[in-house]
Amino acid sequence: MIPGSTPIDQRPTDTTPRHRHLLDLSDWSREAMLALFDTTDVMAQVMQRTIKKVPALQGFTVGTLFFEDSTRTRLSFERAARAQSADVISFAAGGTSLSKGESLKDTLRTIDAMQADLYVVRHPASGAPLQISRWTEASVVNAGDGRRAHPTQALLDAYTFRERYTGDAGFEGKRLAIVGDVAHSRVARSNVTAWTTLGAEVVLCGPRTLLPDELGERPGVTLTHRIEEAVEGAHAVMALRLQRERMASGLLPSLPEYRQRYQVTRARMQLAHPDALVMHPGPMNRDVEIEGALADEPRSVIEAQVANGVPVRMAVLYTLLVGSR
Ligand code: ASP
Repeated sequence: MIPGSTPIDQRPTDTTPRHRHLLDLSDWSREAMLALFDTTDVMAQVMQRTIKKVPALQGFTVGTLFFEDSTRTRLSFERAARAQSADVISFAAGGTSLSKGESLKDTLRTIDAMQADLYVVRHPASGAPLQISRWTEASVVNAGDGRRAHPTQALLDAYTFRERYTGDAGFEGKRLAIVGDVAHSRVARSNVTAWTTLGAEVVLCGPRTLLPDELGERPGVTLTHRIEEAVEGAHAVMALRLQRERMASGLLPSLPEYRQRYQVTRARMQLAHPDALVMHPGPMNRDVEIEGALADEPRSVIEAQVANGVPVRMAVLYTLLVGSR
């Protein structure tokens, strides 16, 4: 271990159940999430050092399997693996046998022959990471599947809120407003699960065509088509991109109308709690779902979300690879 590094392996043992995969957050308890945040705090200290590397995952191999584009998620998983001395093998769907018609199962068989201990999987089809977890002995982390789930994004969003807002006070009595294309957003779905499990309330807001009614049936979740109602008194407001790549035509009013009714702006943030944070999972379309100038205000934690992606994902890899064995 690097001199002066926090002894991760000497942390008090907790009694939360061990997870082998992270496919979505529905089977993660509040205690498991809070334990992960504690591990993240340790990882964040590592990332503040001159030498940002610990041997925690030496001898493990992490495979990143990206069947859909990504910038932040992929980079931060690879950084998270390497900062813990794991080896990384990378697979991206473009330019591989998959584009020559090889099935997902055959592709996985080929990759699995490289004997990774954990796969980080992004796929346009909901459920693909679950399917892959049935075909391999390795652990699987879902890095975003279709519109279904993006658990590490929700964990880093909640961690950022805990870091910048609640501290040890917890999530009870806090409210997150998520505004935009909720229908196509795996980030929204995973954040609903994470924040309600942690004890917060979530308000989802968007035009009728982009706000599925069934999401409002979950305890702790309300739906509204009026942005003013969503933002009012909120402790954090998250703007979502219009996911045109997943969107059938005819779901949107005109773009100017959408901006006028649903853009998260400085003026609308006046309705929020005075200390409310502005969040965005990226990639951000300035002056579409969020006013560009708002994204640069001190209350915006968009860059902190990206930065926290690394220690959160370090904690996820560590927890699954070391905590579960
Ligand atoms: N980066 C996020 C995701 O992969 C959000 C987005 O693409 O709009 O789901």
